[in-house]
Amino acid sequence: MKAMVLQTPEKLVQEDIEEPSLEAGSTIVKITHSGVCGTDLKIYQGGIPVDYPRIMGHEMIGDIAEVDGAQGVEVGSRVIIDPVIYCGQCYQCRRGQTQLCPTGAIFGRDRDGGFTEYMQVPSDAIFSLPDNISGSTAPLIQVMTTCLHAQRLSDIFPGDSVVVLGLGVGGLLHVQLAKARGAYPVIGITRSPERRAMAEQLGADFTFAPDDDVNKQVLELTNGVGADLVIESVGAVAVLEEAIKLARIGGKLLLFGIYTSTELQLSLYQLYFKELAVINARAAKREDYPACIELVSRGDVQLEPMVSHVLPFNELERAITMLGERDNKRMKVILDHT
Ligand SMILES: [Zn+2]
Ligand SMILES: [Zn+2]
Repeated sequence: MKAMVLQTPEKLVQEDIEEPSLEAGSTIVKITHSGVCGTDLKIYQGGIPVDYPRIMGHEMIGDIAEVDGAQGVEVGSRVIIDPVIYCGQCYQCRRGQTQLCPTGAIFGRDRDGGFTEYMQVPSDAIFSLPDNISGSTAPLIQVMTTCLHAQRLSDIFPGDSVVVLGLGVGGLLHVQLAKARGAYPVIGITRSPERRAMAEQLGADFTFAPDDDVNKQVLELTNGVGADLVIESVGAVAVLEEAIKLARIGGKLLLFGIYTSTELQLSLYQLYFKELAVINARAAKREDYPACIELVSRGDVQLEPMVSHVLPFNELERAITMLGERDNKRMKVILDHT
């Protein structure tokens, strides 16, 4: 079967490799669509080191080719794969924090992933997709599970005010999830006029550009107190500093962007003085899949507007390079394997 193999950083080659054969308790999925993610770009560039050769890709859906030990699915069923693998035995796993398993792994980073034809995965890592979710949007459900997991940790209730800083795919999913949970107002902040328009189309109550005196706007919209929850979805320390300003006294910060900076200049006194709860969130749990599938199937969260490109599978390298270019019109890039 054909697979896109990363031999060393920036050396991606289509190779013929052996098909997986069914093991007990596992499922073989014929991949039909996969999403290309910023993590893939970092692995491709060598910023996230992996064991080479490696097949990347952790957002993938497909049809069941062979199955052992999965309930409610049969050969031909359409499924999404949860790329998070965990041991089930360690302290974290036994406390239900399977996404933090120290010996866990992620397909596409620690093990071979979805940029291939067939994948063997544990049978408890697959979830059926209803017919009304299209193949070219379904890989986004993996991204959405990470947003839902993060929001579960930050307890949004109806009527809570939420600011989302950064309106990429993650930020737009946070806007939609916050609305689905009854938050008001939900305020999106981005420099890009296109992304502001999209956020409003997807349910944001207000959007602003960073130069619009966001602090004043947020205070006005929250009766002078500031936001209950500020979601940082960029991964930049300067934006985190902005988040500290926008949160109300006694409010919460959700750090959703991934920070790699080790130099930090932050208003730590304000963190203390406002008694802000700082919440980090990593990956997602199995429980987030049925919830996200249901929200998308019912139309409470829309994925389609966020898919800007669908490319054939063998154009993976072009898709990855596109992610490295600054372009506000490019959102999610999906590969069609069929
Ligand atoms: Zn991803
Ligand atoms: Zn574990």
